[in-house]
Amino acid sequence: MSSSASSCSSVIIVGGGPAGLSMACALADAGIASTVLEAAPVDQLSEPPEDGREIALTHRGMGILQQLGAWQDLPPEAISPLREARVFNGRADQSLHFADARSPLGVLVPNHWLRRIAWQGLQRRPPAQLRAGVRVKALHLDGAQARVSLESGETLHAPLIIAADSRFSSLRRQAGIGAEMRDFGRSVLLARIEHELPHRDQALECFHHGHTMAWLPLGGLSPRLSSLVLTLPTDQAELQRGWDDSRWLAWVQRHSQGRLGQLRLAGPRHHYPLVATYAHRFAAQRLALIGDAAVGMHPVTAHGYNFGLYGVQRLARELAASREALGAPAPLLRYGAGHRRDTWHLYQGTNAVVKLFTDERAPARLLRHGVLRLAQALPPLKAAIATQLTSRSGNMR
Ligand SMILES: Cc1cc2nc3c(=O)[nH]c(=O)nc-3n(C[C@H](O)[C@H](O)[C@H](O)COP(=O)(O)OP(=O)(O)OC[C@H]3O[C@@H](n4cnc5c(N)ncnc54)[C@H](O)[C@@H]3O)c2cc1C
Repeated sequence: MSSSASSCSSVIIVGGGPAGLSMACALADAGIASTVLEAAPVDQLSEPPEDGREIALTHRGMGILQQLGAWQDLPPEAISPLREARVFNGRADQSLHFADARSPLGVLVPNHWLRRIAWQGLQRRPPAQLRAGVRVKALHLDGAQARVSLESGETLHAPLIIAADSRFSSLRRQAGIGAEMRDFGRSVLLARIEHELPHRDQALECFHHGHTMAWLPLGGLSPRLSSLVLTLPTDQAELQRGWDDSRWLAWVQRHSQGRLGQLRLAGPRHHYPLVATYAHRFAAQRLALIGDAAVGMHPVTAHGYNFGLYGVQRLARELAASREALGAPAPLLRYGAGHRRDTWHLYQGTNAVVKLFTDERAPARLLRHGVLRLAQALPPLKAAIATQLTSRSGNMR
């Protein structure tokens, strides 16, 4: 195509991450054609590399993947049940304990598998097209149709553009939509670790002085394999990234308090800086934000991609139910209001938990001890927290 060429599409989705690809599938199921524009080359979508993230899915998140027909593409070893969770404060032995006799609290699925099944879903839906290896440079929302310009010089028109271009979304900024950005000054180091004692499908979240260790059980693969999520101040994380595997493992072993026995590194280490984002609005003229471009969460409450899926479901339903032309403001505003209801409280709650559990001053340490004891002693409060975290009701509000 020539550098000044211009063409028209149905909906354009910018970003072929798991949210963007799932959006294209949900739109196709609602009878709406779309084109996903993704900067990465196609093989990174069809064969996404392992990236260390084990994504905890809520019941509602799983339900949406089932409706999309994507869940069925996961092999059994990619699904690890999360039956219990224990939260520890420092070296204290008391913990806040979550379990549900009826069913698992949720499941863990490797992120590269979630990306892969979203890609496979797209292959089964001809109305959903993908152009990989193309980067969107500019967004224009001023005309009767929205437009995006690609780095190649090409321009594409559409009645509606959906931005799924990550928590650092450039489309969001170009649309004049601000966002709350919270840089926690912390990073996570992730690695799969084999351990001597079985995990019993139990997650451990241990808030220590200066760092947090979460152990996520990977029972789909082995009763003695977990993913370690180590959260540290970024300067400490950078220091540890420079250590060789044996030095790092010795540090982890020392700080694990023997909860899982002898440890062995079972895969490469990965690193992510922690920044949360909340867009001031989720919709503008002929534009909707989804996925991390709308809400980018701190991973401690494991909700980022779940929120992405809730947004995909809600936006597809609003567009499908609307009698107005694609790009009309009313369904976009309804989507924005609904997605805010779904996400705002947990976004704020997550940031408050992070603040409380990373504050090393004595009053904060005392307060979190009290909070854990109170929650453990009050079953209704604990049940309310668990319901919120697992989204067991499974429905849109
Ligand atoms: C350590 C960690 C643990 C996590 N744990 C959980 C968990 O337990 N549960 C949970 O629900 N969530 C979790 N998350 C969050 C989850 O991983 C994210 O919410 C999810 O991956 C975001 O998907 P996305 O498609 O919105 O964005 P991304 O995956 O960031 O994809 C954005 C895509 O847009 C493309 N792009 C960007 N700009 C352009 C452009 N200009 N033109 C074309 N393409 C562009 C990029 O190449 C990329 O492919 C975790 C995150 C981290 C970091």
